[in-house]
Amino acid sequence: MISENQVIVSEDLQIKNMEKNHQLAKAISDVSWYELTRQLGYKAEWNGRQYIKIDACYASSQICATCGYQNTDIKDLSVREWICPKCRAKHDRDINAAKNILAEGLRQIA
Ligand SMILES: [Zn+2]
Repeated sequence: MISENQVIVSEDLQIKNMEKNHQLAKAISDVSWYELTRQLGYKAEWNGRQYIKIDACYASSQICATCGYQNTDIKDLSVREWICPKCRAKHDRDINAAKNILAEGLRQIA
């Protein structure tokens, strides 16, 4: 990831949720996420790349990456695909969120 990209953007780890949630499965996934972001951070620095973390409060899943409309119905995690009520773009939840996270990261360094 580092060698193929000049800029990498991800959401920041939600430390508060981690402290509140005592379920083992969630804790393991958060530790893995932490380790991934830690390695991205130091490898980016080592190789002269930029690694940007977006505030976890940013509504990356709810915003239509095509037109910017914020769809609060998408707060429900079971919604995996949706059609924007404003521009009719069809979204995969995770791909749409990834597009928004990248755009927000690039906006921050512009
Ligand atoms: Zn839209």
